[in-house]
Amino acid sequence: MNILILGSGGREHALAWAVMQNPKCDKLIVAPGNAGIAQIADCASFDVNDGGVVVTFAEENAIDLVIVGPEAPLAAGVADALRNASIPVFGPSAAAAKLEASKSFTKEICDAAKAPTAGYAHFTDLAAAKAYVTEQGMPLVIKADGLAAGKGVIIPETLEEALAALDDMFGGAFGEAGAEVVIEEFMTGEEASYFILVDGETVLPIGTAQDHKRVGEGDTGPNTGGMGAYSPAPVLTDEIAQKALDEIIKPTMAEMARRGTPYQGVLYAGLMIENGQPRLVEYNVRFGDPECQVLMLRLGAQALDLIHACAEGRLAEAQVNWADDHAMTVVLAASGYPGSYEKGTAINGLDAITEDSFNVMFHAGTSEKDGQVVATGGRVLNATARGATLQEARDRAYALVDAVDWPEGFCRRDIGWRAL
Ligand code: ATP
Repeated sequence: MNILILGSGGREHALAWAVMQNPKCDKLIVAPGNAGIAQIADCASFDVNDGGVVVTFAEENAIDLVIVGPEAPLAAGVADALRNASIPVFGPSAAAAKLEASKSFTKEICDAAKAPTAGYAHFTDLAAAKAYVTEQGMPLVIKADGLAAGKGVIIPETLEEALAALDDMFGGAFGEAGAEVVIEEFMTGEEASYFILVDGETVLPIGTAQDHKRVGEGDTGPNTGGMGAYSPAPVLTDEIAQKALDEIIKPTMAEMARRGTPYQGVLYAGLMIENGQPRLVEYNVRFGDPECQVLMLRLGAQALDLIHACAEGRLAEAQVNWADDHAMTVVLAASGYPGSYEKGTAINGLDAITEDSFNVMFHAGTSEKDGQVVATGGRVLNATARGATLQEARDRAYALVDAVDWPEGFCRRDIGWRAL
């Protein structure tokens, strides 16, 4: 099978790694890829957000399966273009990708499906939004409706902050994404991520994870794309996971199918769990990054069979073979991230790392310059390891971190503290 993966981060390196474990993969191309991906696959450069360009590339390279990593190509309709050209693709249509691209759309689907989530109201008018916030009082959560790279969610501490956030959003701080604003009830509890493959009809859970969004130890400081993750998430017990499937995932997926926009791809449900009851925080229409790294290490070669079955609508016959294991990934980031940071700094020590099915250093923001791996992004490397216990996975992941010689980088030393 010839496979094309779209994307360039640690998530795509992990997908590429899992695909390469499976002997059914004859050839793998990743566009655009990074320095780590280039060591295990061919990399190509073209506009991955242009459906026509992706279809042409896939046809010219006899691609049998396209795996879409990030949300932007999905929201831009790349999966639709591939399906129209009869090329199997792992990723939802633009219409189904609205589950991530529009928060008010997701709320509407939850209402129709009677799925537990935070109470809400949505506004396209500043004065009406301000009146509502003033009447409701704190605590509340204010969200730009559209895609804002994780920055469009404000949890204000005071009414003044809430009103200022509304001024910002309607004032264009998030561009078109803020033209509509969703105001939600503030939910308390513990958050966890649940990953489910959906082929339009059948839903198949493929794992749980928890991540650390804040840059600082003890979950303090500004939000980031994610500083580390582990799987499974102890808070998502079998019983709560089943509840989430029965009360949230299955009814919302049935509602999408009923509307003529069935969902196909991986569904990432962000859940808030309190007193044994899961509620939906958000849907994402792709794997989380860095959660994908721990899921791929745990699934290994079978990830390709599952993804392929999902793309071809064969999930009813598919099955996940679970190992009773744990995985952890620790993100190495450039000093200064998520603020400004230096680019082009040299990373050494990577060649001395021995990788196997328990220990892999995934690359995120790296490239190769004159034979030297250099950092090109904020989040740069993902030290990822698996073990019989979370503690063992953690010890291995930090041993990988300690093998890296990169003075301009840093990581959190407390990934997994809640579970440990
Ligand atoms: P990201 O891309 O970072 O996941 P996003 O822009 O898609 O973010 P959400 O996931 O909806 O936005 O919200 C981001 C975070 O804000 C959540 O992970 C959660 O911690 C918090 N949050 C969102 N909605 C609520 C809520 N109703 N009650 C409490 N916390 C919330």
